[in-house]
Amino acid sequence: MSILHFLGLVDSHKHFFEGWSIDEALAALKPYTHEEAYLLIYSYLLDKAQTYQEDRESEYGVAELDARYWVSQYLKGADDPEQIETRLEYLPASSQEFKYGTSRYYVSSPSLKEALKCKYDFYCQVCHTRIYRPKWVRTLPIKEQWKHLNADVHHIEPLSQGGSDLLENMLCLCPNCHRRFHTQEHILKKAQSHIFVFNQITKDHVPLTIKHAVRLRA
Ligand SMILES: [Zn+2]
Ligand SMILES: [Zn+2]
Repeated sequence: MSILHFLGLVDSHKHFFEGWSIDEALAALKPYTHEEAYLLIYSYLLDKAQTYQEDRESEYGVAELDARYWVSQYLKGADDPEQIETRLEYLPASSQEFKYGTSRYYVSSPSLKEALKCKYDFYCQVCHTRIYRPKWVRTLPIKEQWKHLNADVHHIEPLSQGGSDLLENMLCLCPNCHRRFHTQEHILKKAQSHIFVFNQITKDHVPLTIKHAVRLRA
């Protein structure tokens, strides 16, 4: 029997993550990965999530597919772009807060995260790299390509500190740049109307690639 069953992630087995997706479970476990036991479960789930990407696609929910559809329309320039923008802004912002024991878990809206990644075509807004799965092929239609790409979404102001689960508080990043924000090697700075990424070690400024309205707290 797989660990997914024991964690409550499949077969509606009653346990910790009953009714959750693997992604939600991963997001909840991530802050605790400095503890070895959590790291083990996290790594195992991550592995499962990647191995079963195809299956996951079907269980993955209408919201993500909806997000992908609207972003693909947006990129094609089909329909009224302004209306598509509005659609994206109002995709269900369903961030949730869970309490388990004395800990609180924050799970961000999967559809918004997906929309943001698609909007940036999975390129990191800082270093412009992206992560591929082996089935990615350049000649695939863009929506098919998205199934085989990987990126992180970062909340500029963390949900746990009252940050909003809206696109304006999110960045599409590669895992390296994402970690650099969490270690504060990278911080965001605003100069005039431009947003820069400032590296606190090298003192370098890198412009942030921006295709959506990003909000920095004053
Ligand atoms: Zn990057
Ligand atoms: Zn982050």
